[in-house]
Amino acid sequence: MTTNWQQAACRDHNLELWFPGKNGNGCEAKRICRTCPLRAACLEDAINSGDTYAGIRGGIRGGKSAEDRRRIAAARKRVEPDRSADIIRLHRKRWSTKSIAIRYGINVDVVCRVLRAHREAQAGAA
Ligand code: SF4
Repeated sequence: MTTNWQQAACRDHNLELWFPGKNGNGCEAKRICRTCPLRAACLEDAINSGDTYAGIRGGIRGGKSAEDRRRIAAARKRVEPDRSADIIRLHRKRWSTKSIAIRYGINVDVVCRVLRAHREAQAGAA
């Protein structure tokens, strides 16, 4: 699934809203993000890309601050080992990635990442 970034709600706004600096709270950017059809994909992209946008770290992405994203990533690391086994088990039972994502309330990209990591681990072990 490809993301059409042309649909981004931030596209026609001043980018500085998303990088409010130490004294800003990013509330206006977060408000705009809440209306964005790409919010989930944007958040996943931020978390999975080393948290940089055009080489700039931080800022508001997917409606979340850099601190929010760090907390989400840390929480995922704590729960993913258990969930990974379940994702692999359901995939072997021929569940689609979309069905698995819905089952766990996660993004399809996360399911694909777990399955890809599993395949790479299997290939490395062979
Ligand atoms: S969710 Fe991402 S793409 Fe959408 S408005 Fe916010 S920063 Fe822009």
